[in-house]
Amino acid sequence: MGLARALLLKGSESRWLAEQASRRRFVRRATTRFIPGESMDDALGAASSLAEKGITTILTLLGENVVDREAAAEVTREFTTLLERGAEKKLDADISVKPTHLGLDLGFDIAVQNLQALASAAARHARLLAVDMESTRYCELTLDLYRVLRAEHDNVGICLQSYLFRTDADLEALLTVAPMIRLVKGAYKESASLAYPKKGDVDASYLRLSDTLLEAARDGAARVAFGTHDADMIATINRRAADMKCPREAYEFQMLYGIERDLQARLAETGYRMRVLISFGEYWFPWYMRRLAERPANVGFVLRSMMRG
Ligand SMILES: Cc1cc2nc3c(=O)[nH]c(=O)nc-3n(C[C@H](O)[C@H](O)[C@H](O)COP(=O)(O)OP(=O)(O)OC[C@H]3O[C@@H](n4cnc5c(N)ncnc54)[C@H](O)[C@@H]3O)c2cc1C
Repeated sequence: MGLARALLLKGSESRWLAEQASRRRFVRRATTRFIPGESMDDALGAASSLAEKGITTILTLLGENVVDREAAAEVTREFTTLLERGAEKKLDADISVKPTHLGLDLGFDIAVQNLQALASAAARHARLLAVDMESTRYCELTLDLYRVLRAEHDNVGICLQSYLFRTDADLEALLTVAPMIRLVKGAYKESASLAYPKKGDVDASYLRLSDTLLEAARDGAARVAFGTHDADMIATINRRAADMKCPREAYEFQMLYGIERDLQARLAETGYRMRVLISFGEYWFPWYMRRLAERPANVGFVLRSMMRG
């Protein structure tokens, strides 16, 4: 892992930095590249604009590590409202949640209860509830949560990270429950005993897992999304899908709002399924720092925004 990436990921965990950054107008201004705004209206507005370009969306209220039971219940209510408002606007917009935002730190049962309520609310609007994967500390619990949810709901998905050594085995085990899987490379600071430290190995793992997922998608054994902005990886996945006769409709690409916009548009225009994840809310700091860590050159936007005063 590069030094800049390691420092940015370390910074993402600092409460002090979070407070400082939230007070600085120039930092907030720089975030608008990746976050259309803090309010639900901002997110829904961005989703409507993307819909006009044939791009579907996933919406998420930012937040993690909630340690108060009522606050976790309030987050559940906000996501339910988000589903209702998306349906009113007739948006093809799923939702994505972090288990610790819904109370996983308070207890497994609390997170299950909130996620079950959200899965039912999503089903009422024919939407998918995607469960994000956080740091390895939560990996086993998140997989357990997903199994509990999947036993009762068809409309639930889970994210797997190619940087973890364990993911090949996790994927094999999950394929027994006809899952919906989003494959990503992984965004957290992990130890070299748990995750590939070298980018080349993370990419090789991503391609290996993609092959398994494409086969599963082709055979109807899984619904599959590739969460990546890596243009070469996307081209390779499309080539391999064609080779193994996996139709374009059987899988989708997912990217983050504001990243590789041209690629997003190009994929949608050329008949690939393209979904963009739009984040909103006040608790943007750790999420934003992880975006900077993915591409330390992004720090330049923050600095340029500072110069503008
Ligand atoms: C829809 C979606 C959901 C995700 N959910 C999770 C999750 O639940 N858990 C988790 O750990 N991670 C999640 N991630 C983040 C993911 O793990 C990666 O950190 C992130 O996608 C960057 O990796 P990459 O695959 O785009 O490839 P990279 O090899 O990192 O980047 C490829 C190219 O994409 C562009 N790019 C990538 N990131 C940025 C950026 N921040 N700013 C500007 N350009 C960039 C650059 O051009 C870069 O060269 C999610 C990502 C997406 C798209």
